[in-house]
Amino acid sequence: MSKFWSPFVKDLVPYVPGEQPKLTRLVKLNTNENPYGPSPKAIAAMQAELGDSLRLYPDPNGERLKQAVADYYGVRPEQVFVGNGSDEVLAHAFHGLFQHGRPLLFPDVTYSFYPVYCGLYGIDFEAIPLDEEFRIRVEDYARPNGGIVFPNPNAPTGRLLPLEAVERLLQGSPDSVVLVDEAYIDFGGDSAIALIDQYPNLLVTQTLSKSRSLAGLRVGLAVGHVELIEALERIKNSFNSYPLDRMAIAGAAAAFEDRAWFEETRARVIASRAALVEGLEAQGFAVLPSAANFVFARHPAKDAGQLAAGLREQGVIVRHFKQPRIAQYLRITVGTPEQNQALLDALKSL
Ligand SMILES: *Cc1c(COP(=O)(O)O)cnc(C)c1O
Repeated sequence: MSKFWSPFVKDLVPYVPGEQPKLTRLVKLNTNENPYGPSPKAIAAMQAELGDSLRLYPDPNGERLKQAVADYYGVRPEQVFVGNGSDEVLAHAFHGLFQHGRPLLFPDVTYSFYPVYCGLYGIDFEAIPLDEEFRIRVEDYARPNGGIVFPNPNAPTGRLLPLEAVERLLQGSPDSVVLVDEAYIDFGGDSAIALIDQYPNLLVTQTLSKSRSLAGLRVGLAVGHVELIEALERIKNSFNSYPLDRMAIAGAAAAFEDRAWFEETRARVIASRAALVEGLEAQGFAVLPSAANFVFARHPAKDAGQLAAGLREQGVIVRHFKQPRIAQYLRITVGTPEQNQALLDALKSL
């Protein structure tokens, strides 16, 4: 706290990102990165940008990337917004679409950045409890609200809300924005982007950090009705006109264009997830059904905090949240078969 701060700064409760350790020999299964690396075509496209053109500003609208996303999803480029990671896109959505006096609704176990944005932008919220099996109960959201946001699949549970339930949720709140954060949708669900032409209150965000293996590039996007996209553009152009640099625009567009790499690597992650779940269950873990590139697991006899600490001593890092309801769970990213085996071996020794 310093006298130089604007007064609200002292009340902020910032998000705490998962550890990015300096040690490189660790089996890193704590922040849901993709073990398979980005498309070689994306890397080549970024290398082609490394040159004299860097003296020029990038395209402020990232048109090339918007077109690639629009082609992939069969929408128009005006229905696409791009930003510096989906965290930035989410921040602009909270800022531009959720300040309506009534509370924003999201699940009680969810992405912990949502309450942080509420704190930053002065948005009132209500956390709606998930059911006993950590499922979203759509009926609970049919109440007056200033917006609804949830990840699908949910984080850190990995549970998917089927598209028909997403649609019921949209129908229950036609007068507020429903933001579906699809950071993990490519690992096991159908995107709600298919519904944007029917529901002008639907905004879908996605990231290239997980299924397209570009967490280090920082690119995220939103797809929705042009009026929702316009709100995001107005905020963005009042904040930073060039959130995506030349490498990011070129690399992200090429990643969307390289469907073969995307399909192959995501299929490998999905296959490893099934094997990981089997291995964990064989050791007595209860594992929630996951549609994401991570699993959420609990051992009936072992304390999750102690397991996480014991794993760390053996060079395997996973995520443990010291929060009500989920303190006995570990969130484990799906790695390569070798990484998953290293995790299972370390657990066995514990
Ligand atoms: C990883 C993640 C994000 C953030 O993605 P970035 O594009 O890397 O900022 C957003 N929402 C959820 C639920 C996530 O897990």
